[in-house]
Amino acid sequence: MRVFKFGGASVKDAEGIKNVYDVLQKVGYEDVLLIVSAMGKTTNALELVIKNYFDKSPELSSAVQEVKKYHNQIVMDLFEDEKNAVFAAVNSQFSDLEYFLANNKSPNYNFVYDQIVSFGELISTTILSHFMTFMGIQTQWLDVRNFIKTDANYRDAEVDWELTQKNISKNIKSKILNITQGFLGSDENNFTTTLGREGSDYTAAIFAYCLNAESVTIWKDVPGVMNADPRYFENASLLNQISYREAIELAFYGASVIHPKTLQPLQKKEIPLYVKSFINPLLKGTSVSKGVDLEPHLSCFIVKKNQLLISLSSIDFSFIMEENISEIFALFHRFKLKVNLIQNSAISFSVCVEDKFNNFNELNAILSKKFKVDFEENVTLYTIRHFNDTAAHTVEENKVVLLKQVSRETMQVVTKEI
Ligand code: ASP
Ligand code: MG
Repeated sequence: MRVFKFGGASVKDAEGIKNVYDVLQKVGYEDVLLIVSAMGKTTNALELVIKNYFDKSPELSSAVQEVKKYHNQIVMDLFEDEKNAVFAAVNSQFSDLEYFLANNKSPNYNFVYDQIVSFGELISTTILSHFMTFMGIQTQWLDVRNFIKTDANYRDAEVDWELTQKNISKNIKSKILNITQGFLGSDENNFTTTLGREGSDYTAAIFAYCLNAESVTIWKDVPGVMNADPRYFENASLLNQISYREAIELAFYGASVIHPKTLQPLQKKEIPLYVKSFINPLLKGTSVSKGVDLEPHLSCFIVKKNQLLISLSSIDFSFIMEENISEIFALFHRFKLKVNLIQNSAISFSVCVEDKFNNFNELNAILSKKFKVDFEENVTLYTIRHFNDTAAHTVEENKVVLLKQVSRETMQVVTKEI
C-alpha cells in the first residue's frame, strides 16, 4: 500500500480538490490510503471558535458561520447538484459541532479544543471522499479515531502503538482508495484527541508503519525539499535524496523538512518518504530513505530570524558551573524560551533563544539577580550543514558576526544586520 498525505494548502479550495483527483489519475489510486488535513486555514479558524467559546464572546456564532461559509462555498463549487449526499453529510457535521458547543459541560480547555478542532479534518475528508465517489473512484471514508488510539493528553496525545497496530491490521481494505483524517486519534473513552499542530504527517507515518507500506508521499506546493529557503537564498536547489539520519539532523536545527517524530517510525522499517509537488506529480521530488546522506551533496542552510542572544556572566568572576547551568535551563524551560544554540566559557554562558511568548523581560528580572546579563535582540541564527568557505561567506557577508560555533559537519553563526 502507498500512503499519501495532502495538507491544508493542497485542499484549500475546489480547484485544489480537483487537483487531488488529477494527481490520483496520474499516479494511480489503487491500494492507496489518503491522509488529509483540514482545508486551508481551517484549523486556525476553529481555534478562533474555541477562543470565542471560552471567552463567552458574542463573536462565537459569527466565527462558526465563517467556517461554515468557507466549506459551503467549496461544496457548491464542486457539486452543482444540490441533491448530492455531500450537502447532508457536511450539514450533519456542522450540527454535531453546534450540538457540542451548546451542550458541553467540560471546563477543560485542551479537551474542548480537540473535540472542536477535529471537525476541520472530519469535514475535509467528507467533502473529498464524496468528490472522489462523484468522479467515479471507488472510495472508502474511514474515521481515523477507530484506528489511532492514544492517551488522554489532549492536544499532544501519545500514540498507543499496540492498540493502533491491531486496529489497522484488522480493518483496512486494500484495492480501493481509502480516505482518512490526519492529526486525530481517540482515547480510551473514545473522546477525540489530536497529535499536535501539523500532526498529519505523523499520521501518515503511523499508518505506513502499521501497514508495512511501500512508501509515504507528502504532496506539497513546492518541488520537494530544497537545500535553502528560496526566500532568503538565490540558487536554492532541490535535494534528490536525503538519508533518515541527515533529515533528522536538518529537522533538529530547525529546517522545516519533516518532523523527527514523523521520520522515526519510517526509519525503523526503512519505508521511503517522498516529498513531491502536487502541481507536477510526475516529477521525482525528494526521497528521504536509506542510502546516501545527501544527493547532490550541497551545503544546507537553515535560517532562524528574530532570535535573542543572551550572555550571562558571573558577577564576581567565579566560574559558571553545572548547578548554574541546570538552573538557567530550568528557567528557560519555565518561561518557554526555546534554546537553539549554547556556548560557554569559564565565566560566561551564551545562548541563542526564541522568545515566542514574549517572556524575556520577566525572565531577565530573575536572571539579573544572580548574573550579569547582556542581550542582543532581533539577531539571526544561520545553521549550515556540510559547510565550506563559500557557504560560510554567504551568511557572513555584510553582517556583524556575534557568535560562531563550528563542529565537523555543522557551522552555526549568529548575526546582526548592519
Ligand atoms: N490541520 C492541522 C493543523 O493545521 C494538522 C495538519 O495540518 O497537519 O495543524
Ligand atoms: Mg495544516
